[in-house]
Amino acid sequence: MNIIFMGPPGAGKGTQAERIVSEFKIPHISTGDAFRAAMKQGTAMGVKAKEYVDQGLLVPDDITIGIVKERLQEADCASGFLLDGFPRTLEQAAALDDILTGMERKLDHVINLRVDRDLLLARLTGRRICKSCGATYHVIFNPPHREHLCDKCSGELYQRSDDTEEKVGTRLDEYINKTAPLLAYYEQKHLLREVNGEQEIDAVTSEINSVLRGQA
Ligand SMILES: [Zn+2]
Repeated sequence: MNIIFMGPPGAGKGTQAERIVSEFKIPHISTGDAFRAAMKQGTAMGVKAKEYVDQGLLVPDDITIGIVKERLQEADCASGFLLDGFPRTLEQAAALDDILTGMERKLDHVINLRVDRDLLLARLTGRRICKSCGATYHVIFNPPHREHLCDKCSGELYQRSDDTEEKVGTRLDEYINKTAPLLAYYEQKHLLREVNGEQEIDAVTSEINSVLRGQA
């Protein structure tokens, strides 16, 4: 089972990815983890990547692609993989096709967790932090007993500047604009499967399961 997972920040992609890899016994490959492992193990691409990272430079695309290629060739990917956070661009998607063709493999599904923008905004802007003790709350998922006040120390709750509607909205729009061409690319290849990410966590998992098992 060779899968790509896509979804905007706040869609619950990480949680669902963890559940799916444990269900299908395939590795969860995020580019961040693959980079850290390659640099630590000193693989050919890891060594190259480290030169950039050590200088605080952005790692070029061909090295990122090389890291993913090395990772996909490891033994634990023999029965499949779940790619998370890659590809991010059409160039990377084309490179991934080449890598898989070279390995005589192909993608089975591209899962896109779809969540309405307003709901994402509500999820991502709801975090509140206590000024006194640092305890965190969420106005929807974990509200304090008294509005604006910490349950533990009665300190005042505030919203981080990164969590404001304006900042979060910009991040979401950037994500949406960047990934739209990718979604179209996989749609054209009949690989894209939209999953309703607005349901309860368990319902989302079972919808993904049905898609992957060809029952949806
Ligand atoms: Zn507090």
